[in-house]
Amino acid sequence: MLQCARQDIADAAEYCERVTAVREAFRSGERAPCSGIYKAAHAQRHTASHYVVALHGDTFPACLECRRGVRFELALHVVYLKADPQFVNHHDAQDAQFLDL
Ligand SMILES: [Zn+2]
Repeated sequence: MLQCARQDIADAAEYCERVTAVREAFRSGERAPCSGIYKAAHAQRHTASHYVVALHGDTFPACLECRRGVRFELALHVVYLKADPQFVNHHDAQDAQFLDL
């Protein structure tokens, strides 16, 4: 599985496009192929579709009402701030300072 934390952003975006070209939606229990904003659509539309954030590798949850009837469709691929190689050193330093390391 792709490790976004140390991958080049372009590679991650290409991987994400490949996966979502084959798979339009993901089910509960599956893992997010990349970080992003996903549209959650529920079975029988018992509630309006809404948007959620999932980080790469997160497991999509089941809905309390429609259980595994919910589908997650990638709406926008994003790179988590701390996974962006341009900022990693900066944030590592900040975290270290915050933690008094
Ligand atoms: Zn539901």
